[in-house]
Amino acid sequence: MPARRRRRRPVAPTPTELARIEAMRAVVKAEAREEPGVYRMTSPEGEVIYVGKSKSLRTRLLSYFRAQYPRDKGARILRQAATLVWDPLPSEFDALLRELQLIKQLRPRYNVAMKRDARAYAFVRLSQGPAPRLHIVRSAGLDESATYYGPFRGAYQLEEAVRALNDVLGLRDCALGTPMFFPDRPDLGPARTRTPGCIRHEIGKCLGPCIGAAPETAYLTQVQTALAFLEGETETPLTPLRDEMARASEALDFERAGLWRDKVRSLEALREQFARLRFALESLSFVYRIPGASPETDRTYVIRRGRVRHACATPRTARERGALTQRIREVLTPDESERTTVPGHEVDEVLLVAAWFKRNPKELKRTKPLA
Ligand code: SF4
Repeated sequence: MPARRRRRRPVAPTPTELARIEAMRAVVKAEAREEPGVYRMTSPEGEVIYVGKSKSLRTRLLSYFRAQYPRDKGARILRQAATLVWDPLPSEFDALLRELQLIKQLRPRYNVAMKRDARAYAFVRLSQGPAPRLHIVRSAGLDESATYYGPFRGAYQLEEAVRALNDVLGLRDCALGTPMFFPDRPDLGPARTRTPGCIRHEIGKCLGPCIGAAPETAYLTQVQTALAFLEGETETPLTPLRDEMARASEALDFERAGLWRDKVRSLEALREQFARLRFALESLSFVYRIPGASPETDRTYVIRRGRVRHACATPRTARERGALTQRIREVLTPDESERTTVPGHEVDEVLLVAAWFKRNPKELKRTKPLA
Protein backbone atom coordinates (compact mmCIF):
# COMPACT_ATOMS: atom_id res chain seq x y z
CA MET A 1 0.00 0.00 0.00
CA PRO A 2 1.52 3.35 -1.02
CA ALA A 3 2.60 5.57 1.85
CA ARG A 4 0.26 8.43 2.54
CA ARG A 5 1.74 11.85 1.95
CA ARG A 6 1.59 13.90 5.08
CA ARG A 7 0.01 17.31 4.69
CA ARG A 8 2.16 20.02 6.12
CA ARG A 9 0.45 21.89 8.92
CA PRO A 10 -0.03 25.54 8.09
CA VAL A 11 2.30 27.75 10.07
CA ALA A 12 0.98 30.92 11.70
CA PRO A 13 2.41 34.24 10.43
CA THR A 14 5.55 35.47 12.18
CA PRO A 15 5.47 38.73 14.18
CA THR A 16 7.33 40.47 11.30
CA GLU A 17 4.74 39.25 8.79
CA LEU A 18 1.91 40.29 11.09
CA ALA A 19 3.41 43.77 11.44
CA ARG A 20 3.69 44.09 7.64
CA ILE A 21 0.13 42.86 7.14
CA GLU A 22 -1.17 45.32 9.73
CA ALA A 23 0.69 48.20 8.05
CA MET A 24 -0.84 47.31 4.66
CA ARG A 25 -4.30 47.00 6.19
CA ALA A 26 -4.01 50.47 7.73
CA VAL A 27 -3.13 52.00 4.34
CA VAL A 28 -6.00 50.22 2.59
CA LYS A 29 -8.46 51.26 5.30
CA ALA A 30 -7.36 54.87 5.14
CA GLU A 31 -7.03 55.31 1.38
CA ALA A 32 -8.84 52.68 -0.74
CA ARG A 33 -12.21 53.69 -2.21
CA GLU A 34 -15.08 51.73 -3.72
CA GLU A 35 -14.05 52.06 -7.37
CA PRO A 36 -12.82 49.74 -10.11
CA GLY A 37 -9.10 49.17 -10.45
CA VAL A 38 -6.12 46.83 -10.33
CA TYR A 39 -3.83 46.04 -7.43
CA ARG A 40 -0.35 44.56 -7.05
CA MET A 41 1.29 42.81 -4.13
CA THR A 42 5.07 43.02 -3.96
CA SER A 43 7.46 40.90 -1.92
CA PRO A 44 10.10 42.41 0.42
CA GLU A 45 12.61 41.77 -2.40
CA GLY A 46 10.56 43.90 -4.80
CA GLU A 47 9.08 41.06 -6.87
CA VAL A 48 5.46 41.54 -7.92
CA ILE A 49 3.91 38.32 -6.65
CA TYR A 50 0.25 38.88 -7.40
CA VAL A 51 -1.88 41.10 -9.61
CA GLY A 52 -5.64 41.32 -9.21
CA LYS A 53 -8.57 43.48 -10.26
CA SER A 54 -11.86 44.44 -8.73
CA LYS A 55 -14.87 46.59 -9.49
CA SER A 56 -14.85 47.62 -5.78
CA LEU A 57 -11.24 47.97 -4.73
CA ARG A 58 -11.85 48.80 -1.06
CA THR A 59 -14.11 45.80 -0.42
CA ARG A 60 -11.79 43.47 -2.31
CA LEU A 61 -8.60 44.62 -0.65
CA LEU A 62 -10.08 44.56 2.86
CA SER A 63 -11.29 41.00 2.22
CA TYR A 64 -7.63 39.87 2.12
CA PHE A 65 -7.19 40.94 5.73
CA ARG A 66 -10.22 38.93 6.85
CA ALA A 67 -8.72 35.74 5.35
CA GLN A 68 -7.13 34.65 8.60
CA TYR A 69 -6.64 30.92 8.11
CA PRO A 70 -3.04 30.37 6.98
CA ARG A 71 -4.06 27.95 4.19
CA ASP A 72 -6.41 30.45 2.60
CA LYS A 73 -4.95 31.54 -0.75
CA GLY A 74 -5.46 35.24 -0.06
CA ALA A 75 -3.81 34.97 3.35
CA ARG A 76 -0.88 33.03 1.88
CA ILE A 77 -0.25 35.71 -0.73
CA LEU A 78 -0.57 38.48 1.83
CA ARG A 79 2.04 36.84 4.07
CA GLN A 80 4.56 37.03 1.24
CA ALA A 81 3.78 40.65 0.47
CA ALA A 82 5.53 43.74 1.80
CA THR A 83 3.53 46.31 -0.15
CA LEU A 84 0.06 46.47 -1.63
CA VAL A 85 -0.61 49.19 -4.17
CA TRP A 86 -3.58 49.85 -6.41
CA ASP A 87 -4.54 51.98 -9.41
CA PRO A 88 -8.15 53.14 -9.78
CA LEU A 89 -9.54 52.78 -13.31
CA PRO A 90 -12.70 54.09 -14.97
CA SER A 91 -14.49 50.73 -15.31
CA GLU A 92 -14.37 47.06 -14.41
CA PHE A 93 -13.72 46.29 -18.09
CA ASP A 94 -10.72 48.62 -18.02
CA ALA A 95 -9.53 46.87 -14.85
CA LEU A 96 -9.80 43.45 -16.52
CA LEU A 97 -7.74 44.60 -19.50
CA ARG A 98 -5.11 46.24 -17.29
CA GLU A 99 -4.88 43.14 -15.09
CA LEU A 100 -4.23 41.02 -18.18
CA GLN A 101 -1.52 43.41 -19.41
CA LEU A 102 0.21 43.39 -16.01
CA ILE A 103 0.08 39.61 -15.70
CA LYS A 104 1.62 39.20 -19.16
CA GLN A 105 4.26 41.78 -18.41
CA LEU A 106 5.18 40.79 -14.84
CA ARG A 107 4.22 37.09 -14.73
CA PRO A 108 3.46 37.08 -10.98
CA ARG A 109 3.86 33.64 -9.45
CA TYR A 110 0.50 33.56 -7.68
CA ASN A 111 -1.57 34.31 -10.74
CA VAL A 112 -2.20 30.62 -11.30
CA ALA A 113 -5.96 30.90 -11.71
CA MET A 114 -5.63 32.55 -15.11
CA LYS A 115 -3.24 29.82 -16.28
CA ARG A 116 -5.75 27.19 -15.16
CA ASP A 117 -8.50 28.90 -17.20
CA ALA A 118 -6.29 28.92 -20.27
CA ARG A 119 -5.70 25.16 -20.00
CA ALA A 120 -9.44 24.55 -20.45
CA TYR A 121 -8.95 25.53 -24.09
CA ALA A 122 -7.09 24.02 -26.96
CA PHE A 123 -5.67 25.61 -30.09
CA VAL A 124 -4.80 24.31 -33.52
CA ARG A 125 -1.23 25.38 -34.18
CA LEU A 126 0.52 25.56 -37.52
CA SER A 127 4.29 25.58 -37.01
CA GLN A 128 6.69 27.31 -39.35
CA GLY A 129 9.79 25.85 -40.96
CA PRO A 130 10.39 23.73 -44.07
CA ALA A 131 7.53 21.28 -43.37
CA PRO A 132 4.90 23.02 -41.23
CA ARG A 133 3.13 20.79 -38.75
CA LEU A 134 -0.56 21.10 -37.82
CA HIS A 135 -1.13 20.03 -34.23
CA ILE A 136 -3.03 20.73 -31.03
CA VAL A 137 -1.65 22.73 -28.11
CA ARG A 138 -3.21 23.67 -24.78
CA SER A 139 -1.95 27.21 -24.75
CA ALA A 140 -1.43 29.74 -27.49
CA GLY A 141 1.88 30.85 -25.95
CA LEU A 142 3.62 34.02 -26.87
CA ASP A 143 5.65 32.91 -29.88
CA GLU A 144 4.97 34.59 -33.17
CA SER A 145 6.73 31.80 -35.06
CA ALA A 146 3.47 29.91 -35.46
CA THR A 147 -0.13 30.54 -36.42
CA TYR A 148 -2.80 29.70 -33.89
CA TYR A 149 -6.46 28.94 -34.55
CA GLY A 150 -8.80 28.96 -31.64
CA PRO A 151 -9.52 28.89 -28.77
CA PHE A 152 -11.65 25.74 -28.90
CA ARG A 153 -13.08 23.45 -26.27
CA GLY A 154 -12.68 19.67 -26.49
CA ALA A 155 -8.99 18.97 -26.99
CA TYR A 156 -9.53 15.24 -27.50
CA GLN A 157 -12.00 15.64 -30.39
CA LEU A 158 -9.77 18.32 -31.89
CA GLU A 159 -6.79 15.96 -31.75
CA GLU A 160 -8.77 13.20 -33.48
CA ALA A 161 -9.92 15.55 -36.22
CA VAL A 162 -6.47 17.06 -36.84
CA ARG A 163 -5.00 13.54 -36.97
CA ALA A 164 -7.58 12.59 -39.63
CA LEU A 165 -6.80 15.78 -41.57
CA ASN A 166 -3.03 15.16 -41.42
CA ASP A 167 -3.52 11.55 -42.53
CA VAL A 168 -5.73 12.34 -45.49
CA LEU A 169 -3.45 15.16 -46.72
CA GLY A 170 -0.16 13.40 -45.97
CA LEU A 171 1.08 15.98 -43.48
CA ARG A 172 3.66 15.07 -40.91
CA ASP A 173 2.87 14.67 -37.21
CA CYS A 174 6.33 13.90 -35.82
CA ALA A 175 8.32 15.94 -33.31
CA LEU A 176 8.86 19.57 -34.30
CA GLY A 177 12.64 19.22 -34.23
CA THR A 178 12.70 16.32 -36.74
CA PRO A 179 14.99 17.28 -39.68
CA MET A 180 13.13 17.71 -42.97
CA PHE A 181 14.45 17.34 -46.53
CA PHE A 182 13.02 18.13 -49.93
CA PRO A 183 14.48 17.42 -53.38
CA ASP A 184 13.70 21.03 -54.39
CA ARG A 185 15.42 22.46 -51.28
CA PRO A 186 19.10 21.52 -51.61
CA ASP A 187 19.91 24.08 -48.88
CA LEU A 188 18.37 21.67 -46.33
CA GLY A 189 21.04 19.10 -47.18
CA PRO A 190 20.80 15.56 -48.57
CA ALA A 191 17.98 13.39 -47.25
CA ARG A 192 18.83 11.01 -44.43
CA THR A 193 17.21 7.76 -43.46
CA ARG A 194 13.73 7.98 -41.99
CA THR A 195 13.08 8.56 -38.32
CA PRO A 196 12.98 5.11 -36.71
CA GLY A 197 9.61 3.99 -35.42
CA CYS A 198 7.40 5.98 -37.81
CA ILE A 199 5.71 4.13 -40.64
CA ARG A 200 3.31 6.87 -41.75
CA HIS A 201 5.08 7.35 -45.08
CA GLU A 202 5.06 3.60 -45.81
CA ILE A 203 1.32 3.32 -45.14
CA GLY A 204 0.48 6.36 -47.24
CA LYS A 205 -0.38 8.76 -44.44
CA CYS A 206 2.57 11.13 -44.82
CA LEU A 207 4.35 12.55 -47.86
CA GLY A 208 7.62 11.72 -46.08
CA PRO A 209 9.45 15.05 -45.82
CA CYS A 210 11.82 13.39 -43.34
CA ILE A 211 13.36 11.44 -46.25
CA GLY A 212 12.82 13.93 -49.04
CA ALA A 213 10.11 11.73 -50.59
CA ALA A 214 8.20 14.67 -52.06
CA PRO A 215 9.06 18.18 -53.22
CA GLU A 216 8.43 21.04 -50.82
CA THR A 217 5.96 22.58 -53.27
CA ALA A 218 3.79 19.43 -53.02
CA TYR A 219 3.94 19.46 -49.23
CA LEU A 220 3.08 23.16 -48.99
CA THR A 221 0.15 22.67 -51.38
CA GLN A 222 -1.28 20.12 -48.93
CA VAL A 223 -0.76 22.54 -46.04
CA GLN A 224 -2.67 25.20 -47.98
CA THR A 225 -5.47 22.70 -48.63
CA ALA A 226 -5.67 21.98 -44.90
CA LEU A 227 -5.92 25.69 -44.11
CA ALA A 228 -8.49 26.29 -46.84
CA PHE A 229 -10.56 23.44 -45.38
CA LEU A 230 -10.36 24.92 -41.88
CA GLU A 231 -11.41 28.30 -43.25
CA GLY A 232 -14.44 26.68 -44.92
CA GLU A 233 -13.14 27.31 -48.46
CA THR A 234 -12.82 23.73 -49.71
CA GLU A 235 -14.18 20.23 -49.11
CA THR A 236 -11.17 18.52 -50.69
CA PRO A 237 -10.01 16.54 -47.62
CA LEU A 238 -13.50 15.05 -47.19
CA THR A 239 -13.71 13.60 -50.69
CA PRO A 240 -11.27 10.64 -50.31
CA LEU A 241 -12.76 9.80 -46.91
CA ARG A 242 -16.29 9.75 -48.31
CA ASP A 243 -15.10 7.65 -51.26
CA GLU A 244 -13.47 5.10 -48.91
CA MET A 245 -16.66 5.01 -46.83
CA ALA A 246 -18.76 4.35 -49.93
CA ARG A 247 -16.38 1.62 -51.17
CA ALA A 248 -16.44 -0.14 -47.78
CA SER A 249 -20.25 0.02 -47.71
CA GLU A 250 -20.51 -1.41 -51.23
CA ALA A 251 -18.21 -4.25 -50.14
CA LEU A 252 -20.54 -4.81 -47.15
CA ASP A 253 -17.59 -4.12 -44.85
CA PHE A 254 -19.65 -2.09 -42.41
CA GLU A 255 -17.01 -2.04 -39.71
CA ARG A 256 -14.56 -0.33 -42.06
CA ALA A 257 -17.30 1.93 -43.39
CA GLY A 258 -18.01 2.97 -39.78
CA LEU A 259 -14.36 3.90 -39.23
CA TRP A 260 -14.36 6.11 -42.35
CA ARG A 261 -17.70 7.60 -41.32
CA ASP A 262 -16.20 8.57 -37.94
CA LYS A 263 -13.32 10.33 -39.68
CA VAL A 264 -15.74 12.19 -41.96
CA ARG A 265 -17.80 13.25 -38.96
CA SER A 266 -14.79 14.39 -37.01
CA LEU A 267 -13.59 16.54 -39.91
CA GLU A 268 -17.06 17.96 -40.40
CA ALA A 269 -17.21 18.78 -36.68
CA LEU A 270 -13.81 20.48 -36.90
CA ARG A 271 -14.94 22.57 -39.85
CA GLU A 272 -18.10 23.46 -37.91
CA GLN A 273 -16.05 24.56 -34.88
CA PHE A 274 -13.98 26.82 -37.10
CA ALA A 275 -17.12 28.31 -38.64
CA ARG A 276 -18.54 29.02 -35.16
CA LEU A 277 -15.30 30.66 -34.07
CA ARG A 278 -15.21 32.80 -37.22
CA PHE A 279 -18.75 33.94 -36.45
CA ALA A 280 -17.89 34.64 -32.79
CA LEU A 281 -14.83 36.69 -33.76
CA GLU A 282 -16.81 38.68 -36.29
CA SER A 283 -19.64 39.32 -33.84
CA LEU A 284 -17.12 40.73 -31.35
CA SER A 285 -16.46 43.76 -33.54
CA PHE A 286 -18.00 47.04 -32.38
CA VAL A 287 -17.62 50.35 -30.59
CA TYR A 288 -18.29 49.84 -26.90
CA ARG A 289 -19.10 52.79 -24.65
CA ILE A 290 -19.03 52.51 -20.87
CA PRO A 291 -20.37 55.39 -18.80
CA GLY A 292 -18.07 56.25 -15.90
CA ALA A 293 -18.91 57.58 -12.46
CA SER A 294 -18.58 61.09 -13.99
CA PRO A 295 -18.60 62.32 -17.61
CA GLU A 296 -14.78 62.61 -17.42
CA THR A 297 -14.45 58.87 -16.84
CA ASP A 298 -16.73 57.76 -19.72
CA ARG A 299 -14.70 55.34 -21.86
CA THR A 300 -14.97 54.18 -25.46
CA TYR A 301 -13.35 51.02 -26.80
CA VAL A 302 -12.93 50.06 -30.42
CA ILE A 303 -13.11 46.27 -30.51
CA ARG A 304 -12.38 44.28 -33.62
CA ARG A 305 -12.51 40.49 -33.72
CA GLY A 306 -12.47 40.25 -29.93
CA ARG A 307 -9.47 42.51 -29.44
CA VAL A 308 -9.44 46.04 -28.06
CA ARG A 309 -7.73 48.03 -30.82
CA HIS A 310 -8.26 51.47 -29.32
CA ALA A 311 -9.42 52.85 -25.96
CA CYS A 312 -10.04 56.50 -25.15
CA ALA A 313 -12.17 58.91 -23.15
CA THR A 314 -15.60 59.08 -24.80
CA PRO A 315 -15.41 62.01 -27.25
CA ARG A 316 -17.44 65.05 -26.24
CA THR A 317 -16.59 67.56 -28.95
CA ALA A 318 -16.96 67.38 -32.73
CA ARG A 319 -13.17 67.35 -33.05
CA GLU A 320 -12.83 64.41 -30.66
CA ARG A 321 -15.62 62.55 -32.47
CA GLY A 322 -13.81 63.14 -35.79
CA ALA A 323 -10.58 61.77 -34.30
CA LEU A 324 -12.38 58.63 -33.11
CA THR A 325 -14.01 58.12 -36.52
CA GLN A 326 -10.56 58.38 -38.12
CA ARG A 327 -9.17 55.85 -35.61
CA ILE A 328 -12.01 53.41 -36.38
CA ARG A 329 -11.22 53.73 -40.09
CA GLU A 330 -7.60 52.84 -39.38
CA VAL A 331 -8.62 49.86 -37.23
CA LEU A 332 -10.84 48.58 -40.04
CA THR A 333 -8.25 49.07 -42.78
CA PRO A 334 -6.28 45.79 -42.70
CA ASP A 335 -8.40 43.03 -44.21
CA GLU A 336 -8.86 40.46 -41.47
CA SER A 337 -12.37 39.38 -42.33
CA GLU A 338 -13.53 35.81 -42.22
CA ARG A 339 -10.32 34.33 -40.81
CA THR A 340 -9.96 32.16 -37.73
CA THR A 341 -6.45 33.22 -36.88
CA VAL A 342 -5.68 34.92 -33.62
CA PRO A 343 -2.11 36.14 -33.04
CA GLY A 344 -0.62 34.04 -30.22
CA HIS A 345 0.00 36.97 -27.90
CA GLU A 346 -3.58 38.22 -28.24
CA VAL A 347 -5.53 35.04 -27.53
CA ASP A 348 -5.87 35.86 -23.82
CA GLU A 349 -7.46 39.17 -24.71
CA VAL A 350 -9.96 37.54 -27.09
CA LEU A 351 -10.89 35.08 -24.33
CA LEU A 352 -11.25 37.92 -21.84
CA VAL A 353 -13.47 40.04 -24.13
CA ALA A 354 -15.61 37.02 -25.09
CA ALA A 355 -16.02 36.00 -21.43
CA TRP A 356 -16.92 39.59 -20.45
CA PHE A 357 -19.81 39.83 -22.93
CA LYS A 358 -20.94 36.29 -22.15
CA ARG A 359 -21.10 37.11 -18.43
CA ASN A 360 -22.65 40.53 -19.03
CA PRO A 361 -24.90 40.17 -22.11
CA LYS A 362 -26.67 43.45 -21.24
CA GLU A 363 -23.41 45.26 -22.01
CA LEU A 364 -24.01 44.49 -25.71
CA LYS A 365 -26.70 47.19 -25.58
CA ARG A 366 -23.87 49.71 -25.15
CA THR A 367 -22.24 48.65 -28.41
CA LYS A 368 -22.58 50.07 -31.90
CA PRO A 369 -21.40 48.65 -35.24
CA LEU A 370 -17.92 49.70 -36.29
CA ALA A 371 -18.90 50.95 -39.72
S1 SF4 B 1 6.96 9.75 -42.14
FE1 SF4 B 1 8.66 11.10 -41.54
S2 SF4 B 1 7.87 13.19 -41.78
FE2 SF4 B 1 6.13 11.79 -41.80
S3 SF4 B 1 5.44 11.78 -39.68
FE3 SF4 B 1 6.82 10.05 -39.95
S4 SF4 B 1 8.84 10.84 -39.32
FE4 SF4 B 1 7.53 12.60 -39.69
